[in-house]
Amino acid sequence: MHKAGFVNIIGNPNVGKSTLMNLLTGEKLSIISPKAQTTRVRVMGIVSAEEYQIVYSDTPGILEPKYKLQESMLQYVESALTDADIILFITDPFDSKKINLDYAERIKNIDVPLIVVLNKIDLIDQKSAEDLLKKWQEIYPKAVILPISALHSFNHQSVLDAIIYHLPESPAYFDKEQLTDKPMRFFVAEIIREKIFLNFKQEIPYSTEVVIESYKEYPEITKIAATIYVERDSQKPIIIGNKGQSIKNIGTEARKDIEKFTETKVYLELFVKVNKDWRNDSLKLKRFGYQQ
Ligand code: GDP
Ligand code: MG
Repeated sequence: MHKAGFVNIIGNPNVGKSTLMNLLTGEKLSIISPKAQTTRVRVMGIVSAEEYQIVYSDTPGILEPKYKLQESMLQYVESALTDADIILFITDPFDSKKINLDYAERIKNIDVPLIVVLNKIDLIDQKSAEDLLKKWQEIYPKAVILPISALHSFNHQSVLDAIIYHLPESPAYFDKEQLTDKPMRFFVAEIIREKIFLNFKQEIPYSTEVVIESYKEYPEITKIAATIYVERDSQKPIIIGNKGQSIKNIGTEARKDIEKFTETKVYLELFVKVNKDWRNDSLKLKRFGYQQ
């Protein structure tokens, strides 16, 4: 009997959804940063074995949209609630203090198996962990609740076991060699965006979009040109930095990760342009490829 299905990872911003997705797939498919809302779209990570195929979806965090980009981000969360075979709801000790009961109620009413993952248990003592597990079991009586630390690769095997147990009988959805639904260019842009999230404070990362202008593979090297779009004129010199130092750092850090990801030598060229208020403009968002 072959099993296959869609396992959709949802939860509030910053609880460790992307970290867990990368751990479960063994690939760095999703970008991670200490800032909320790093993930903007839905990214699939496919894990295949002889007798099963798990199609994970990492999603942006659940949020109250304040601008159009966030409305689009929430759409991806909504779609993940409707097409799941299994829901993997991730929470952490801090998140558990401010539970969004509307969402909890909705998730409870979806008729698919629910696995609740209490992540970051490396940050609390055993007594607090036990209390939280009890609390989540009361909110979701039918769910299996699993304490893990995605960062320290602790107990994620129990998550995998629970997923395989609940996976429906089905043929594979994707070629067994395939790792994701997104092309290489997407991950290159995401890696550059991750470096911006890690290098800049406040609004800059949220105001930034990365577009791959060209991607050429030669026998010896892959040549990539990308444009970093910001929202306002004043943000451009910040990205570039004094004597171009900031953009140079982003370029170097991104290139190293892209080389690991593509397993080739990479030449990366970065440009910075202003695209006024793109975050709040439906047409511009559509051109950047966001679902409306
Ligand atoms: P997402 O917004 O839910 O996708 O969260 P991320 O995966 O981007 O992680 C947010 C932050 O939490 C990052 O700084 C991670 O390194 C950190 N993090 C993730 N899992 C753990 C964990 O198990 N323990 C600790 N201490 N930190 C974690
Ligand atoms: Mg994320």
